[in-house]
Formats: sequence, structure tokens, C-alpha cells
Amino acid sequence: KNIADKIAAGEVIDRPVSIIKELLENSLDADASNITVEIKNGGKSYIRVTDNGCGIDGQQAELAFMRHATSKISSAEDLDAIHTLGFRGEALASICAVSRVELITKTADSKTGRKIVIEGSQVLENTAIGCPDGTTVTVRDLFYNVPARQKFLSSDNSETRRVVDMVSRISLAYGNVKINLINGERTVFATRGNGNIFNNIINIYGNNVGKDLLPVDGEGRGFILKGFVSAPSASAPSRNKQIFCVNGRIVTSKVMENGLEAAYKEKLFHGRFPVAFLFLSMPAEKLDVNVHPTKKEIRFDDDFEVEDFIKSNVRSVLMKKDA
Ligand code: ADP
Ligand code: MG
Repeated sequence: KNIADKIAAGEVIDRPVSIIKELLENSLDADASNITVEIKNGGKSYIRVTDNGCGIDGQQAELAFMRHATSKISSAEDLDAIHTLGFRGEALASICAVSRVELITKTADSKTGRKIVIEGSQVLENTAIGCPDGTTVTVRDLFYNVPARQKFLSSDNSETRRVVDMVSRISLAYGNVKINLINGERTVFATRGNGNIFNNIINIYGNNVGKDLLPVDGEGRGFILKGFVSAPSASAPSRNKQIFCVNGRIVTSKVMENGLEAAYKEKLFHGRFPVAFLFLSMPAEKLDVNVHPTKKEIRFDDDFEVEDFIKSNVRSVLMKKDA
């Protein structure tokens, strides 16, 4: 596959949560240690992501909105070695085509920052401005110019739920970054950014989820598994609290899910699922992260090896609990 094909396979901006994911990933790529995400009306009328990351140079700021303008790759080989989250260079371009965007940004080296206002891809303002180091992107009135797509958005509550779910997962995966989520006037959660997985689970998902968790801490053949799983008695009616990270990246993985659930065999009633926050570290050459450009899906060279590693480590935690 050539670079253009991989890039073209990128996801489209279809709802607020996809915008917020792109903005949040840009902030993480910019090495921010503190990020605030604010939404109103499920993100339909207002999204703001503020970070204290590297910022964009004033000269380059307008360019960041051009399609395939990315500072992150220059060759197809880079795609395989890529460690940043965004790499298609199309998120900001896609977002500003369908909303009113304001970007305020400043690098540590420059005396002044830059403010850019773009509506429906038209640059309305590009001026110097005083501001702190870092970047703030505000997105208003999603699909104001595409009423047909506005109709496909769900209720405020349902869009909010999607946003909270996604920001929660990312906040858990990036436990060293302070992430603050605000819905309207209310703080949904704020993490401390101290890298403590358990603290983060409590801060994000609440004490109720935290109280019945058992620590997982296993190692072998280049694999390390850390995190928490629920006692069988604290299982959940759905899988929405099963979160898997591989080498620092959130993934959906049937293989990991199977390994987890196999460990609970006979311990769970039908229709109940374990809660799990699992962080797997493994040799990078044993997996392919480019199955999908957003890298949510990954492929392991040896599915059985991964499934069995998860199963045996989780099983030994459950057996210790029974003993
Ligand atoms: P990509 O992330 O795929 O490169 P984007 O459209 O998301 O493409 O962003 C375009 C460029 O804008 C990035 O490559 C980066 O240089 C810059 N950029 C975007 N958001 C930020 C941010 N929060 N902090 C610093 N730079 C940013
Ligand atoms: Mg990006």
C-alpha cells in the first residue's frame, strides 16, 4: 500500500466525538501535560480543547488547516515507525470545512501567539495575539453549513455519552497527562496526571467501579501486563468498561477480549462481562498497528500467544482471590 492509500482510508468527521478525538490526539502529539476538553450540547454547538503543548509556529499556523499538511510524516516508511497518533494531516482541514473554528497557539520560542479564525474553510482572521504557550482550538456550530449531516447527529445526551466514553478511555491510557473534561458548567472528571492507574480509574470512573478491582501484574517472554480486573461478583452487564491498551495505545481487540473472558469461564453468569483496564506492553515487531489508519485495531503476529498470556495472568489473579 502506498502512502496516499493509507492516508485516504482515514475516518471522516461524522460527529462531535470524532472531532474531540482528533483534537485530543493532536494535543497528546504536541506533548501536552495538561489538557482541558469542554463541550456544550454534546459538542454540537461548542467544543474547546486547550493544551499546554508545543504550540504551532505563527508562520505555520494557517498551513495546519490545509489538507495533508502534517508535520508528522514525510515518507511511507515513517508510517510504519510512527509513534504519533495523528499522521494523515487531514483532521483540522476536515473539521474547519464543516464548522466555525478558532485556533489560538503559541510556541515557547515566540513572543506572541497567533489567532486564526476559519469558517467553512474560509480564513476570516489571522492575527498576532498575546496568549500562553500551547494551543486552544474552539469548534462551534458543527455542520452549520451542511444541514443534511446535522440531521444525523443524536440527542445532546447521547452525543455527550459518546464524548465522555472516549475521553475517559484516552485519559486512562495517558495516565501521565492531566486531563480535565467539562460538560457545560460541570466538571465530569479531572485526572491528576501522576501515572497511577488505580487513581485514574477512580477519578474517571468513580469509587463504585474502583472498589471491586483486583490488580493484574504479570510478565513473561517480553510481555508485561498491568492493570485491574473486576472480581467475578462485580461483573457488568456490558463490555463498555473493558479497556485495552497495547504499547500505550488504546485498541479494540477480540483476541484480548477472548483472553480476558476465558479467564472468567464458569465464573460469570450469562450476559455478564468482566470489567477490565489492561495495559499490555510487548515487542513492537510482534504486532502490526497499521491495520487501520486510526490504529484502533491492531493485528498480533501470534494471536494465541497474546490470548493465552492474558488468560493465564488474569486467571491467576482470580485464583488468588478465591484462595
Ligand atoms: P496530523 O495530526 O495528522 O498531522 P492535523 O490536521 O490533526 O494532522 O494537524 C495538522 C498539524 O497541525 C499537525 O501536524 C501539527 O503540526 C499541528 N497541530 C495541530 N494541533 C496541534 C496542537 N494541539 N499542538 C501543536 N501542533 C498542532
Ligand atoms: Mg491530528
